[in-house]
Amino acid sequence: MYQDKTLVCRDCGAEFMFTAGEQEFFAEKGYHDPVRCRECRNSKKNARREKVSYHAVCAECGKETEVPFIPKNDKPIYCSECYARMRNR
Ligand SMILES: [Zn+2]
Ligand SMILES: [Zn+2]
Repeated sequence: MYQDKTLVCRDCGAEFMFTAGEQEFFAEKGYHDPVRCRECRNSKKNARREKVSYHAVCAECGKETEVPFIPKNDKPIYCSECYARMRNR
């Protein structure tokens, strides 16, 4: 059976617990052992979410969307779905 074990975070070097329950879960999913502590994993996730994006309204369907640049009034903004549809036309 699984036993709690202590791993060392690759990013900050802190020791963290990889519990038996987590090991079972990871093994079930076929994941590799975690290499980062919870804090580093969380801060990584937050960093990704902080990607700059601006609110815009799709000129095609009127749905709210986010774009990685400042929307300009002289250029219509499309949501990703409409954009993909128009490119495939
Ligand atoms: Zn860490
Ligand atoms: Zn749209």
